[in-house]
Amino acid sequence: MNGEYDVVVIGSGAGGLLAALRAAENGLSVVVLEKAALYGGTTATSGGAIWVPCHGLGDHEDSREQAESYLNHVTGGEAHGERLTAYLDHAPEMVGWMQSLGIGWDMLEGYPDYFTEAPGTVPGRALAPAEVDGKLLGEDYLNMRLPFGAFMLLGRYSMGLDQAFSLSARLPGWQRVAAGIFAKYWLDPLWRLRTKRDRRATMGNAAIAALRLALKQRGVPVMLETPLRRIEAQDGRVTGVEVEREGALARIGVGKGLVLAAGGFEQSQHLRDENLPVSTSAEWSLTPRSGNTGDALIAADALGADREFMANCWWAPSTMLPSFDDPEDIQPQQMFFDHRHPHSLVVNGLGERFLNESCSYDEFGKAMIADQQRTGANLPCWLIFDATYRDKYGCGSIMPGSIMPDRRIPAHFWDRWFYRAPSLAELADKIGLPVDALEASVAQMNKAVAADRDEAFGRGASAYDRFFGDQSVAPNPSMGPVAAPPFYAIRIELGDLGTKGGLKVDGDARVISTSGEAIEGLYAVGNCAASPFANCYPGSGGTIGPAMVFGYVAADHIAGTSGSA
Ligand SMILES: Cc1cc2nc3c(=O)[nH]c(=O)nc-3n(C[C@H](O)[C@H](O)[C@H](O)COP(=O)(O)OP(=O)(O)OC[C@H]3O[C@@H](n4cnc5c(N)ncnc54)[C@H](O)[C@@H]3O)c2cc1C
Repeated sequence: MNGEYDVVVIGSGAGGLLAALRAAENGLSVVVLEKAALYGGTTATSGGAIWVPCHGLGDHEDSREQAESYLNHVTGGEAHGERLTAYLDHAPEMVGWMQSLGIGWDMLEGYPDYFTEAPGTVPGRALAPAEVDGKLLGEDYLNMRLPFGAFMLLGRYSMGLDQAFSLSARLPGWQRVAAGIFAKYWLDPLWRLRTKRDRRATMGNAAIAALRLALKQRGVPVMLETPLRRIEAQDGRVTGVEVEREGALARIGVGKGLVLAAGGFEQSQHLRDENLPVSTSAEWSLTPRSGNTGDALIAADALGADREFMANCWWAPSTMLPSFDDPEDIQPQQMFFDHRHPHSLVVNGLGERFLNESCSYDEFGKAMIADQQRTGANLPCWLIFDATYRDKYGCGSIMPGSIMPDRRIPAHFWDRWFYRAPSLAELADKIGLPVDALEASVAQMNKAVAADRDEAFGRGASAYDRFFGDQSVAPNPSMGPVAAPPFYAIRIELGDLGTKGGLKVDGDARVISTSGEAIEGLYAVGNCAASPFANCYPGSGGTIGPAMVFGYVAADHIAGTSGSA
């Protein structure tokens, strides 16, 4: 397998496929090379949201000045101005272009930014991919990575982001939403005979399906099980790549540009240990196991590429739980809805609260790190809740008690992964926390609920906190007393959605060398590149948004259609 393409793209997540599509639309020959046996990367498993200020969809009101002010504030001066400018310039343009190709996006009505107290914040900047009919992709549909387990209702039924939110926040009519999801799945008899997989591609599957379909229609090959091994350069310019294919090495020539879109280094324990500020396990990461191990970072090293923001992840608390029928099959479960529900609090290993439990998942991770560095007793921390919470809300893969009562939770969960006790003191004993400290923390939480004011950490004070709470709980959707026995506890690990640090790039997505020059013909996008937002997660879609926007920017720069080509 040898050959030459104008553009070679490494990785088939959002960044890679978008770059490939834009390059093809620019009239260039393109190939996408993917290491895994399935395409779509972490993106396919994700919520699929993109964060785009001034997107112009619906009746959204926003302005460039507000968006700029927001980003400057929340990134705390750490981000590079030229990358923020490029993002603000090209994100709305990219959405308009995709819409013109029939790749649809819908505004998530009212969805807040992640810092609703910051200047320039505007709700509605997050966009969700429009649902795609998987049938259009033929057999290729089944070669796409499945959504993350918890993003499928009961582990099987596709949900849109708005539907998942409606169910999680128990918005009025959530039962109707669930019934609609079941009906669509079962009233599809011919597809049901073919596969158990839901034909409705939603969330990250929808974003990837739409891009894959557009590439297919343009004849762009996506070659699976073809990992990048080495980048070849002559006179400082990228000329080709060495890949592995069916057990042998092969060369593919790069005529104009190589786009590295191979994700971050979250699945490399070695790179995690080398770069992250506290000791973490790759197993806690919510990203696909056989996925991103920093291959492109390592390959680009040989060309003298620089790196940036390597100490950061897109943090998201997780918990480790066994599967229901196999005690040995332990998988990370996302906890990023769970810590925000009322009738709960989070404490460290000393039994003390250390954060506003209703903050965004990225801020949650940062608070865990800060507390670990302060106390040495935060990894893991604990979500503590009462019988009211248990009845109403899920927790990792454990469904609400009203759907999955305690008697249906397998025996192998109890007292190893999931804990219950008739009193707080007994619960503290079971999980090894100081009884007095846990009781004092619960009393502090209950006092905050009674006063509707959390003096210690400000839980429930921001519009963000209240939006993601339970709207049926008054006066504050984020807080409820932790008072009804029995009491429950589950461990929270420092999970992530990928790493934020990577190759240093400029506003055109060109990789910068340690001597400060752009390496000719080399581009990096998505988590392969350092985040344009430095160590900040500005809003829902804050990682896939930049992956796609800089894929778009890179393809234009390669084609010579952007300003500075
Ligand atoms: C459960 C979950 C929900 C999330 N929800 C959202 C959300 O709604 N919005 C949001 O913005 N972010 C979300 N994220 C984060 C987001 O999914 C990732 O940050 C983003 O998808 C990364 O995109 P990427 O293109 O950089 O990498 P990926 O999508 O991971 O793609 C990289 C691809 O490169 C391949 N690859 C790796 N090495 C090589 C190699 N040597 N050769 C060839 N190919 C290689 C990988 O196999 C992979 O397919 C979520 C993450 C998770 C886990």
